[in-house]
Amino acid sequence: APGLSWTLKRAAALHGAAVAVVDGTTRLTYAELLSWCEHMAAGLARCGAQHGDRIAILGANSAEYLAAYFAIPAAGHVLVPLNARLADAELIELLGDCDPVVVVVDEEHRARAEAITACGGVGVVTFAQVLADSGEVSGGRRILDVKADDLAAIFYTGGTTGRAKGAMLTHANLTANALHMIAGVGYGADDVYLHCSPMFHLGDGMSTYPMTWAGGKHVVVARFDPQAVVDAIETEGVTCTFLVPTMLTLLLEYLDRTGRDPNLSSLRLVVHGGAPISPTLLTRAIARLGCSFTQSYGMTEAGPILSFLPNEDRLLGSEVLRSAGRPVVGVEVRVVRPDGTDCEVGETGEIIGRGPNFALGYWQQPDVTRERFRDGWYWSGDLAYRDDGFYLYLVGRAGDAIISGGENVYAAEVEAALARHPDLVEAAVIAVPSPQWGEQVHAAVVIRPGAATTDADLDRHCRELIAGYKIPRSYEFHAQLPRTGPGKIDKLALRRPHWAAHE
Ligand code: AMP
Ligand code: MG
Repeated sequence: APGLSWTLKRAAALHGAAVAVVDGTTRLTYAELLSWCEHMAAGLARCGAQHGDRIAILGANSAEYLAAYFAIPAAGHVLVPLNARLADAELIELLGDCDPVVVVVDEEHRARAEAITACGGVGVVTFAQVLADSGEVSGGRRILDVKADDLAAIFYTGGTTGRAKGAMLTHANLTANALHMIAGVGYGADDVYLHCSPMFHLGDGMSTYPMTWAGGKHVVVARFDPQAVVDAIETEGVTCTFLVPTMLTLLLEYLDRTGRDPNLSSLRLVVHGGAPISPTLLTRAIARLGCSFTQSYGMTEAGPILSFLPNEDRLLGSEVLRSAGRPVVGVEVRVVRPDGTDCEVGETGEIIGRGPNFALGYWQQPDVTRERFRDGWYWSGDLAYRDDGFYLYLVGRAGDAIISGGENVYAAEVEAALARHPDLVEAAVIAVPSPQWGEQVHAAVVIRPGAATTDADLDRHCRELIAGYKIPRSYEFHAQLPRTGPGKIDKLALRRPHWAAHE
């Protein structure tokens, strides 16, 4: 498979005069986007970047961010998108882990990046600085022909042990995923894709390469905001986008609240995923937006797609609507028992996958890599069963993940942060239902006798250490936590009262 630079070079050769990206007042053709990438590659070379060096990005969505998706891997470097919602302490840990040459930022994130790199010796440079023309660019010489198995990107995903893991994706991995996206959702030159989900996640990033390959138009908004989304659909004729279920809820609420009746007729497809969706929400969304819906299921380690449930609008009322779809062409998916043998139809097991899209492993974490990538298969930690048509039904997670608004939160990470409070004896973090976020983070805690620690104290403590979306939304205080046996906290018993009405 050719490197990712090829997807952009092909678009510039075939659709050079077509609009590639629209971001506010910035409009670039494919020929201009290619030229931006060459300037960006030259700018990174000025920063001292060598082949294989990591380049971190901290920014809101932008045309520059889109260009970085191409320029960095095409110049032989490794793209590391950082989640801008993380706490400073977490970003410092990630920078220590991936050890980038520079952090490239937009103006909005410049001061923050300078503060967190102050003692680490990592440079900070703005997009404007790396894009500046220094007369070094001639004939695309900076865009190399990298090898398919070269590392293209590291995307961080939450850690079951409390430590984030950097999934190492090669050019071949991301090119394979682009093919799977085209096979699954059929992007074409007439498509107009709205980047409203964060570019630092693959939920959005998964469409960047295939849309470019197809020669479609990218429309960018800085961040998800229902009004900006509706405006962009109306003015740019958006045909496709990706939303997590929480965004869909916010979009419908916005339309109801404002009574706005926009012209959404250009919209042909909403892809959603990253978290389970309720059939009620899906049914409402299909009725209100009047386009096709396709569920996607996958994970960062898979680049990310494993399965699609296409044309959900035609499946209304069918039991299949509860499934996460069938394996996409090109990816082998199995549901297995702990010993690796296949489950029967209807029997719950763990989802494992294999294919050209799967990451090499985790950056500098050989032990976790060996545990999750075994015998040529990636073990997802997702529990599911399949029906006789190989539709996958997700039923839970083997690990401790809580999915809140499409962001994964690992209980162990929150428990580790709580444990650093001097008055805390122990804590168990669980998911409880939330109408807005799907699930929300809840902590059951035991406080040292005599201490007067309140939930507000714990909240303040956590805010210093972990991202806002990971902080418990609610607490319960116990004299002791229930146990299933020696040592092990009985999380099922803690969950039961919260989920009683749902199960
Ligand atoms: P991430 O690594 O952040 O991309 O998160 C991947 C995890 O999100 C998966 O392992 C699933 O647990 C969950 N997930 C992704 N897509 C879906 C979906 N369509 N329905 C339910 N859960 C999903
Ligand atoms: Mg993950």
